[in-house]
Amino acid sequence: MTRSDTSAKSTVLVVEDESSIASMLTMALQFMGFEVVTAACGTEALDRAARHAPDVILLDVVLPDMDGFEVCRRLRDTGVHTPVLFVTARDAVSDKIRGLELADDYVTKPFDLNEVVARIRAVMRRGRELTPSNSRRLRAGWVELDRDTREVWRHGQPVQLSSTEFALLQYLLENADQVISKAQMLDNVWSYDFQGESGIVETYIYYLRRKLGDTDQSLIHTVRGAGYLVRTSPPSYVTEG
Ligand code: CA
Repeated sequence: MTRSDTSAKSTVLVVEDESSIASMLTMALQFMGFEVVTAACGTEALDRAARHAPDVILLDVVLPDMDGFEVCRRLRDTGVHTPVLFVTARDAVSDKIRGLELADDYVTKPFDLNEVVARIRAVMRRGRELTPSNSRRLRAGWVELDRDTREVWRHGQPVQLSSTEFALLQYLLENADQVISKAQMLDNVWSYDFQGESGIVETYIYYLRRKLGDTDQSLIHTVRGAGYLVRTSPPSYVTEG
């Protein structure tokens, strides 16, 4: 019964070709309560970002196949707006300036681990504040929905949903970060009483997960005995002391 605990963790994608630095960051971040996914080059980074929908990306600038800026550009081109924290050499001042046009923040090598963690938490917080609740665009993980045009994207690619699927997804996203019961969904999405036939909700959640590529249920979480939960942002952590 630890699944919901692990799925509630925030995921950091660490992109770093120097294995000693990568493993040090992995250990430190795991110790601080993060889920960590690693990539050793730009191609791997793009693949991991698409598959794991991380909450933040720690991106080394100098990589063997393409630089971190190119990785970031390609992510943004495919509609991935995950906060990016660049890791750059201390003397690479022009890199810093270039990085900030694309990234949310940067840290310099050699870095202090506490500083890295503090900055990761800061960009996550900022990302959350930048998503106003009245925005026509609703977003969670790798899924984005436009209330006005009724378009839906999965990893930046358009997805065709039925009107019921769209209404259910919109309701889930509008009420993100809180558990929604099946009864609430029936009331608000189907607008009439199914006389306890909540199986219809499960069926449509199944359709949505399939169309949105949520095979591991990391986007739409099942909260056993309570309902469903979509997270737009990582849970905040209690700091020691
Ligand atoms: Ca490097």
